[in-house]
Amino acid sequence: MIRIAIQSKGRLNEESLSLLQDIGIEVDAPKRKLLSKSQTFPIEALYLRDDDIPRVVSGGSATLGIVGLNEIEEKGADVTILCRLGFGTCRLSLAVPKGESCDGLGWFSGKRIATSYPNILRKYLDEKGIDAKIEVITGSVEIAPAVGIADAIFDIVSSGSTLIANGLREVETVFESEAVLIARRDLDAEEQALIDDLLFRIESETVSRGKKYLLMNLPQSSLDEAIRILPAMRSPTVMPLASPGWCSLHSVIDAADLWTKVRQLKAIGAEGILVMDVDKIIL
Ligand code: ATP
Ligand code: MG
Repeated sequence: MIRIAIQSKGRLNEESLSLLQDIGIEVDAPKRKLLSKSQTFPIEALYLRDDDIPRVVSGGSATLGIVGLNEIEEKGADVTILCRLGFGTCRLSLAVPKGESCDGLGWFSGKRIATSYPNILRKYLDEKGIDAKIEVITGSVEIAPAVGIADAIFDIVSSGSTLIANGLREVETVFESEAVLIARRDLDAEEQALIDDLLFRIESETVSRGKKYLLMNLPQSSLDEAIRILPAMRSPTVMPLASPGWCSLHSVIDAADLWTKVRQLKAIGAEGILVMDVDKIIL
């Protein structure tokens, strides 16, 4: 049995639980019970605040954890990063009130910067030789300049709309983050085997993300051209149709390329194009 630490509520909770569900692991959502044993895999979920996850995993009270890279870097936790998970994407940036004529890092010398990430910020400022005062604040960081707590902020940004709403301007990206799966160091053989199984499942899930399955009828004479348009995993599957001179072609493509490819395929005579979602890809 292994234990995985998951954020109990907040931005990573829902996607962490849906990742587990997609790989066949059902656990109860965190309502009253903060420890929930899965009926479908030898694992139990432990629901925590995200700040506590790196330490709980490095200390051995959980085998695995799902948390933002920003929290691991800030806490300096001694854990293994097993894989990136492709959600919870954000960055840690320096921002200043939009009226300030900040034209580079030098502006921050002697200034006060409010943040909940003092360790990442201190390391960055030291590397750049900037001597600024760090004001630690655990939330509502964006309001700090307007109320005189600081001259600038260092905080999480994703779309940037919160900064704009608070009259701030992003001037420097310092750290790029996303949710990652972490593990305790020094796993025993049984834990390692269970984790290898999980990683195999997660890989098939992440590989299939953003992919579409295409199926179409095509004149035999356009086949070479279609194969050039559709680089499939090995090569597209081609099957004969009952009508002479026609075949059926199947392939997997990136969803982002869908409309470009469909237009190219139509232009060489493809008909009856079916587009389907891909659930899993086992390589
Ligand atoms: P907790 O109560 O668990 O301590 P929290 O308020 O510290 O929650 P959330 O706001 O839920 O944290 O964010 C959790 C993580 O989600 C962040 O540490 C970061 O990795 C990621 N994240 C992605 N986008 C954003 C964003 N726009 N704002 C904040 N965090 C984001
Ligand atoms: Mg937190």
